[in-house]
Amino acid sequence: MKPPICYICDKDFRDSREGGLVYFKKRPSDYEWDKKMETPGMTGHPPYAEWFCGEHYEEAKKLENLTIDEAMKILRTLFKLKW
Ligand SMILES: [Zn+2]
Repeated sequence: MKPPICYICDKDFRDSREGGLVYFKKRPSDYEWDKKMETPGMTGHPPYAEWFCGEHYEEAKKLENLTIDEAMKILRTLFKLKW
């Protein structure tokens, strides 16, 4: 699992009690990833989950019923990100 660094603003909030991990709707490739992780010894950060700081968590959480690709497109527009 990745450390808690906000996907939107890069804020590292591992020392504060804010924000959280948002699990988005799984894409076909995410189900494959889950299956792969059932193999003993396999660990990793779910490709359909991202950390969001206190400022961005609420908006991200509202989009959890979308896939991460769809949600990020909306979040990038919403927060006027350049990437
Ligand atoms: Zn943030």
